[in-house]
Amino acid sequence: MPEKELRVRIAPSPTGSLHLGTVRTALYNYVLVKKHKGKFILRIEDTDAARNKGEYTKEILDGFKWLGIEFDEGPYYQSERLDLYKKLAQKLLDEGKAYHCFCTQQELEDLRKVQRTARMPEKYDNRHRNLTEEEKKKFLDEGRKPVLRFKLPDNQDIKWHDGIRGDICINTNDLGGDLVIMRADGIPLYNFAVVVDDGDMGITLILRGDDHLHNTAKQIPIYEALGYKVPDFAHAPLIFTHDKEKLSKRKHGDIANIDKYQKEGYLPEALKNYLVHMSWTKPDKSEEEVFSLDEIASVFDLDRISKNPAVYDLIKLNWFNNHYIKEKSTEEILELSKRFLGKDLDLSKYSKDKILLMIDAVKAGLNKLDELPGLIKFFFDDKFEFDSEENQKILSSDSSKKVLEKILASLDLMNFNDPKECKKTVDVIGKELGLKGKDLYWPLRVALSGSNKGPDLGLIISLLGKDKVKARIQRAPSVLV
Ligand code: GLU
Repeated sequence: MPEKELRVRIAPSPTGSLHLGTVRTALYNYVLVKKHKGKFILRIEDTDAARNKGEYTKEILDGFKWLGIEFDEGPYYQSERLDLYKKLAQKLLDEGKAYHCFCTQQELEDLRKVQRTARMPEKYDNRHRNLTEEEKKKFLDEGRKPVLRFKLPDNQDIKWHDGIRGDICINTNDLGGDLVIMRADGIPLYNFAVVVDDGDMGITLILRGDDHLHNTAKQIPIYEALGYKVPDFAHAPLIFTHDKEKLSKRKHGDIANIDKYQKEGYLPEALKNYLVHMSWTKPDKSEEEVFSLDEIASVFDLDRISKNPAVYDLIKLNWFNNHYIKEKSTEEILELSKRFLGKDLDLSKYSKDKILLMIDAVKAGLNKLDELPGLIKFFFDDKFEFDSEENQKILSSDSSKKVLEKILASLDLMNFNDPKECKKTVDVIGKELGLKGKDLYWPLRVALSGSNKGPDLGLIISLLGKDKVKARIQRAPSVLV
């Protein structure tokens, strides 16, 4: 018998932008599918009209596209499948596996109040499970619109072997009572729609966040009631912050969402690699941490995913991003950074070759691409200020004036086409003045770039060219006084 094809899915609800946790779960599914040559399905769970937004659907789709996470099927939209949910809900009703519940919100709230006062767990007490026809008619005559509830088996252990969490057992008495599966307006609720879809789409493994463990216990009886084969389950740990809070947009703002990383110039490869590593460790930990999704797929296994919460670590993410930035050609970095560079800098001031040299000089220090304009801005800005205390100190020394004046007088000797030659000329001048190291270089650096740190000094001189070097030295405070 051929092994059954692996079919997995990711099923985001468009109630917010694409969340980091969703992407990580999607990645685990993605590498599993690659490893086992299965199928990956995208389903948008958009039945909650009050909380859904069309723009979130777009952001989710765009986010996956940007990351290069591709699907074999979908996107399917739950909002387009309402007839199927209605049909199967009716079937459960006809077979006595579901029933109409006429409770009002007030009645349910009163019930919860009583339970709270008695320090009992809050749950629906299944009071409308066995209504007589007369009772039902009376409620209907009162104008009540019933919801449909699924009859959970009483006091039954729901057990499964979870691909990540191991053996799980949850008793149906701890699941909050019979669950609503259809609202009065005919819209299905999550736990029902998800089972219909996963069953109908032949999903064989459900790999999702471990906040769904109790939902799984609710869903297994629904699979059975509908006659679907129960799929395998694996629940991955959620992402937490260092202070042990679940990473959420509401509490932690943009860091929870993919678009922040896209906007700031993170590379999709870096984000993917970082996210996969959050809870998963490669079999041989001594090996390098950076590898492609294909390489990860070849060694990926659910049992190497930790049960413990993953911890969001920006420093680690930046490390991955810096690594991938360094791996790209400078041309690629220029192309990927144009949206940042074009905003702040007038790129027409330099030839493309010179701009590539600037990028090349600072590339290795970049954590993300939106840092690039700040690092090469001085090349484009002839009027930067020297007002920092450090700059003032450097430029006010006696030797600074000597260095800068001597350089000014020697500009005709400089070979501006060659950074190394430029640097050599500076060193010769230093020798003549008996100055070296920071006494020699820092005044010049500050005069030319507004900072005592930065790219190679010879390169700065060469790229600025004679006129700019001259003008910048002439406006330096130590030369002016
Ligand atoms: N729409 C659900 C969510 O976004 C899907 C959960 C699941 O994977 O079943 O949480």
